Amino acid sequence: MENKKELRNWLDAFNLDHPLVIAGPCSAETEEQVVTIARQLKDSDVSVLRAGIWKPRTRPGNFEGVGSLGLKWMQTAKAETGLLTSTEVANPSHVALALEHDIDILWIGARTTVSPFIVQEIADALKGTDKTVLVKNPVNPDLSLWLGAVERLYTADIKNLGVIHRGFSAYEKTKYRNNPEWQIPIDLQNRFPDLPLILDPSHIAGRRDILFDLCQTALDLNYDGLMVETHHDPDNAWSDAEQQITPETLIGFMRDLKIRKEVSESAEFKNSLQNLRAKIDITDNQLLETLAKRMKIADEIGKLKKSQNVSILQTPRWNEILGKMILQGEEKGLSEEFVLRLFKAIHQESINHQKKVISE
Ligand code: PEP
Ligand code: MN
Repeated sequence: MENKKELRNWLDAFNLDHPLVIAGPCSAETEEQVVTIARQLKDSDVSVLRAGIWKPRTRPGNFEGVGSLGLKWMQTAKAETGLLTSTEVANPSHVALALEHDIDILWIGARTTVSPFIVQEIADALKGTDKTVLVKNPVNPDLSLWLGAVERLYTADIKNLGVIHRGFSAYEKTKYRNNPEWQIPIDLQNRFPDLPLILDPSHIAGRRDILFDLCQTALDLNYDGLMVETHHDPDNAWSDAEQQITPETLIGFMRDLKIRKEVSESAEFKNSLQNLRAKIDITDNQLLETLAKRMKIADEIGKLKKSQNVSILQTPRWNEILGKMILQGEEKGLSEEFVLRLFKAIHQESINHQKKVISE
């Protein structure tokens, strides 16, 4: 697959002056719930209603979705509100049912994108469709797997395509349910600038308080749209209750988010600058995370040295690190002076951490 302008035809057809917004509940629960939420989203910037009909659960025993009955509820909601409809498909029989019920946008979930066999089965079932198909990133941080899924669909003659960034799972618990790893979608965007890129802040955050900032970052990075889990009574949602917001909150977001449009030349300049700054901010955050991780290891070393009564400063080891880093830095275009200053500062902070541990 190569980058082609036509990749975004389906998106351009919406003719929006703002990013595409897809919203709706994590799961369809009842007809009344689906229709109530759709009504509350009507007449806003939201163009597409989402609802999970078949829910992939990591552990069994949680709510697994209402099944094809829910597709009828979505049709009712569409007839009443004019919102287009979208849902997740995870196998060929889901595809057949979704097509039968004329669902407008189908997406492939993160747990499905990891499996080339299943993605191929879905691609075969969808062959030649003019429906839009969106591919969520795989649960693991692997760009090729993500692109591979898009390519399987493209090869099956499905040309209305896009991707959804929903974050990547990690064993270590962080403030995110799924780490954003922004570098991965940014790499994808660099290779396929015309492939529509949509942020799903809900599954990245896993909580409500950081959703807005995630949406703003995505807009600063020129994402094409947002998919936000929205429920009229989030606390009592049957799945993903902690991360869902009300339609009213989402409408507030859409009022407060800053959208950067590319119109005049100077706007384009501002837009590019904003885009680069957003990338710098992401990298700076990663730097801090990495430094904090390093200091935690220093604390462990401090404990170990304390237990064996070993001195903090081990000069040969320090010289060895420094020599190695200067060489590696040079290969990456970093000056010796900079690497030296940087690692002296890091080393000093490590010593301070170890001193603290040892004196405790
Ligand atoms: C969802 O969108 O409700 C969902 C299950 O998402 P993901 O595949 O990203 O986990
Ligand atoms: Mn969900």
